[in-house]
Amino acid sequence: MGVRTMYRRLKALQLENSVTMRALHILPTYSAYKKTYTLLRQSRQWSREELAAYQAQALSRLLDHAYENVPYYRRVFEERGLVPGDIQTPEDLALLPFLTREDLQKSLPDLKARNYPETAFEYVTTGGSTGIPVGFYYEKGASRAREWAFMKTQWDRVGYRFSDRCVVLRGYIVGSARDETFWKKTLFGRWLLMSSHHMTEETLPAYIDRIRTFRPGFIQAYPSMAVILARYMVEHGVEPFPTVKAVLCGSENLYPWQRSLLAEAFGCRVFSWYGNSEQTVLAGECEESTHYHIFPEYGIVELIGRDGRPVERPGAMGEVVATNLTNFVCPLIRYRTMDLAVLGKSPCTCGRNYPLLERVEGRLQEFIVTKDRRFISMTAVNMHSDVFDNVVQFQFYQKKEGEVLMRIVKKPGYTDRDTERILRELDRKFQGDVDVTIRSVGKIPRTRRGKYQFLIQDLPLDQQEPGQHEAECRNKSG
Ligand SMILES: [Zn+2]
Repeated sequence: MGVRTMYRRLKALQLENSVTMRALHILPTYSAYKKTYTLLRQSRQWSREELAAYQAQALSRLLDHAYENVPYYRRVFEERGLVPGDIQTPEDLALLPFLTREDLQKSLPDLKARNYPETAFEYVTTGGSTGIPVGFYYEKGASRAREWAFMKTQWDRVGYRFSDRCVVLRGYIVGSARDETFWKKTLFGRWLLMSSHHMTEETLPAYIDRIRTFRPGFIQAYPSMAVILARYMVEHGVEPFPTVKAVLCGSENLYPWQRSLLAEAFGCRVFSWYGNSEQTVLAGECEESTHYHIFPEYGIVELIGRDGRPVERPGAMGEVVATNLTNFVCPLIRYRTMDLAVLGKSPCTCGRNYPLLERVEGRLQEFIVTKDRRFISMTAVNMHSDVFDNVVQFQFYQKKEGEVLMRIVKKPGYTDRDTERILRELDRKFQGDVDVTIRSVGKIPRTRRGKYQFLIQDLPLDQQEPGQHEAECRNKSG
């Protein structure tokens, strides 16, 4: 079946099957998909200069439009005595202010472009599991189709085709304990959606059997979900699924320990990307590297260091501030994502002249704050260590600097010796600057969207200026 036919059928399916639509995050505008997908096939070969020219042109189109049609930006320009022509390159963007989540919350009506009919707007909100939940608008029928074109382009790099069977382990609740099926097929039988809420020691053997008979080419997952399955497989000596070519990980930060655990359990490539629902940045790994390749056609990404200036040295960290180049109904210019990332050294050996992120450290809320106010990234803590062998799940909770509560779900074999080992290991990681208390709990709840948080950060970290939270602890935390 061609992509065009698939889109038509999806359209028919859309009304009757909301689970499918949620799974696909798609609206059936084939032309928007096709146009973007075709562009991306060409632009991957462009030189640095060609990409820069493309971005400059897209930026000027966006700014002209925002000035003419978006009241919020007209005001921003006028207050600064600027006109769109003053901003010719991505570097000139520094003349404009950041757009924070608070701004978005306060000024959303003024961020709607006046030259689009009301039917063009699709209201979307972020999960709100961390930080402030915000609402904004997609262009109905186009934003999701374009997004899908970018995603497909990324998955092409590990050989994904529309005809491939795919197991989907994301935040879905499917099936029921009563009839002991925790999955359902969708997308003409090609995708097997598996429930994230029923995965336990008791049910996982059935999940594994079902995946084996389904013979998927790919597993699409929240890393935290895939890890539950992977851990079980490694601990019980379950062989990898021979048909699986890659695990496609998104929507949550993929920690190094998760990557190595997934690679071990599934015996295949673990492929990850980084993006947000606001659609301001999208970056994914390539055929040859695990660094995140930023799509210049998607948005302009600035990495802002703690001094408020752009980070230019590979290996240095800054906050991701991004400008979407394709959403004209609700332009987001210099949007503060609150995500911290480390600049990579480009170009990559794959030949794409895209800017690179070496790694994404995640949201501010994914850092633990020490007594001396250093920030320790959760990426520094290796939970795939045998120290945690007798722990089913864990979650850190912090509401005071230098103190964390670690909630754990114990395995039956857990003893005081495990507590001692965990505390010793964490003390080493935190350099003695964080007091850890361990508390045993029956269960660790997921967020409303079925995601799993390793850290609930209750300190007010949102109020900081971009980059101020840079983890100078890097060397110490190892
Ligand atoms: Zn590459």
